[in-house]
Amino acid sequence: MKEKTRNIVRWIWEIAALILFFGLTVAGKLQLWFAIFMLGVLISVFAGRFYCGWICPMNTIFRPLSWFYGKLKIKRLKSPKFLSGNGFRYFILILFLALMIFVRILHVKMNILLYLTMLSVLVSLVFEEAFWHRKICPFGTILSLTSRKAKVAMNIDESGCIGCGACQKKCPSDSIITKEDGKRYNLKHECLMCYQCIDACPTKVCEIGTIQERKI
Ligand code: SF4
Ligand code: SF4
Repeated sequence: MKEKTRNIVRWIWEIAALILFFGLTVAGKLQLWFAIFMLGVLISVFAGRFYCGWICPMNTIFRPLSWFYGKLKIKRLKSPKFLSGNGFRYFILILFLALMIFVRILHVKMNILLYLTMLSVLVSLVFEEAFWHRKICPFGTILSLTSRKAKVAMNIDESGCIGCGACQKKCPSDSIITKEDGKRYNLKHECLMCYQCIDACPTKVCEIGTIQERKI
């Protein structure tokens, strides 16, 4: 699919998902969204985190926000260094699951998903998107676990990589790392399958397809 057509399809798809999300919120049936998320989990096992890049309402809201910040050349804060590693995100996931159980058992009327979405917007007003994707979002943490053995991912053909870093600048989840030789490598389980690196790469060596090798 051509870049322009794909981007139009993605926008339509994301906006439709966002409308569905808010429609379910208004109808008081947001719990049905968990069924959509579970489908995303199933897909992630084989084909990566398409839920994050194509369906998640938080990510859809982040996109115009990031575009706006980019246009105004406003830099947001990076993820705090002391939160490197996965400990914090697992802690948040456990808290989130405990809250879900608590709400369920006590029949508390609380729209966790909506509050989480609002929190994500507040956080991304101050921090770069990657902070949310990599350190806070409990859905992202679950998908980063379930997608580890996926057979489809965004691969970089290192033989054609000139190490320009254009892909990294665009990546909303900081999933592209620099290797010792200057070439780039994608951490597949952190990738949102958003195609932004593919559009940015001048040598067109980024591509979503079957994984040939897994080095990390
Ligand atoms: S920019 Fe590329 S590596 Fe980063 S999340 Fe999107 S598809 Fe994955
Ligand atoms: S944009 Fe393409 S050529 Fe540049 S570093 Fe990324 S993968 Fe390599």
